[in-house]
Amino acid sequence: MKDHSLEIYNTLTRSKQTFTPLEPGHVGMYVCGPTVYGDAHIGHARPAITFDVLFRYLRWLGYKVRYVRNITDVGHLEHDADEGEDKVAKKARLEQLEPMEIVQHYLNRYHRDMAALNVLPPSIEPHASGHIIEQIEYIKKILEAGYAYESCGSVYFDVAKYNADNHYGKLSGRNIDDLLNTTRELDGQHEKRNPLDFALWKKASPEHIMHWPSPWSEGFPGWHLECSTMGRKYLGDTFDIHGGGMDLMFPHHECEIAQSVAAQGHDAVRYWMHNNMITIDGKKMGKSYGNFITLEQFFNGDHPKLAQAYSPMVIRFFILQAQYRSTVDFSNDALQAAEKALQKLQDAYARLQKLTPAEKSNVELPDYMKLCQQALDDDLNTPMVIAHLFDAAKHINAATDGNTKLSEADIKALKDVFDTMAGEILGLRLGAADTGADLTPYEGAVDLLMEIRTNAKQNKDWTTSDLIRDKLAALGFNVKDTKSGVEWSLK
Ligand code: ZN
Repeated sequence: MKDHSLEIYNTLTRSKQTFTPLEPGHVGMYVCGPTVYGDAHIGHARPAITFDVLFRYLRWLGYKVRYVRNITDVGHLEHDADEGEDKVAKKARLEQLEPMEIVQHYLNRYHRDMAALNVLPPSIEPHASGHIIEQIEYIKKILEAGYAYESCGSVYFDVAKYNADNHYGKLSGRNIDDLLNTTRELDGQHEKRNPLDFALWKKASPEHIMHWPSPWSEGFPGWHLECSTMGRKYLGDTFDIHGGGMDLMFPHHECEIAQSVAAQGHDAVRYWMHNNMITIDGKKMGKSYGNFITLEQFFNGDHPKLAQAYSPMVIRFFILQAQYRSTVDFSNDALQAAEKALQKLQDAYARLQKLTPAEKSNVELPDYMKLCQQALDDDLNTPMVIAHLFDAAKHINAATDGNTKLSEADIKALKDVFDTMAGEILGLRLGAADTGADLTPYEGAVDLLMEIRTNAKQNKDWTTSDLIRDKLAALGFNVKDTKSGVEWSLK
């Protein structure tokens, strides 16, 4: 385990706290994942990247991390949606597809977008639809504890009763009386004792295609329930970190806390972390503003608001230029500036590989690794890490221009800081091959050629083996025979 003192801002206590996991050396982390009934948009990128950096950093520090990010594929009742209909079911009827076909389609596309953004897959990606039995059991516990009631085949959480014994609203800092006055009329509200009560189980209407049997009705679980249930299943009664976007703080996470306290007698989460939101040209993203831009549209530039395509690495870099608790405003100007800035780091990284070491350095380099780690320890201050990388880039450029000299040890330290901090932890691809395009299929093709070449060499078919090497060299690849096999890279 590396030396560290990681301070993270706990939304629940509204203060920075020194992170100490429940079990030494292990971290359990849950992040609310996407609802898969449409393409991932830029709003999905921020929590994914924020908690990816935390995941990467914790692993680098030496923790064994179990990172759970769920897939919401049932019962997502949207408050602003028409009559609160389950969106997956609605879309299925319109497109005449199986609901699970739609889930899989959008999930594949979500995975593709995340891979392009260099977001690592979580350790477990549970589907709500695969945990109906656990959710039913969880509802039974809440009913037994007396904090829920059955009404017309549905089960609702009794917010007023819960609030009499606990504080409903402690995470978002709300007061239940204010909430009572602002709650709008919702579908099926007549079934509820109080407009604030939320569904744990919803009886399915006849046209509803995603439903399961339960002791109360043929129906489906409420959205808030899946996170409480799956978090507990995979991370235990109490776990370390729960993350998500600020927009989920209320009601989703507030409801999660209430469910855990009702079923288990205590909040399951030790550190609640929330990333701030993204705006586009200063406006909240929404269909009505015409600024609802999917990640795919950012990557190919195919949207009236976009002046050009932006590579996934530019998007990632742009998001990391802000600390996760500040807002980020997307505009063409800001993205173009981010593109130039990222290019500067990429150029410096390329020059770094070509630097010739001097006997002795004639400048003194700061300990960038330490500085970057201090920045990350300070509630993931990624803009500060980026500032240190730019400072390091200045030293690389000065040495390249012959204005300064750098020793072998200093060059190695610079390579370490770029590979570790920019590459491994911020997840930025800075190499020549890392144009941001998804190179996975090309890598596979080159690997295949390498395999053919190795076989050819084993069969002493030098013509084929040399042909592959020479043609690849002409295309800009370096092919090197090493003791452990063949290595290749882009020149
Ligand atoms: Zn959730």
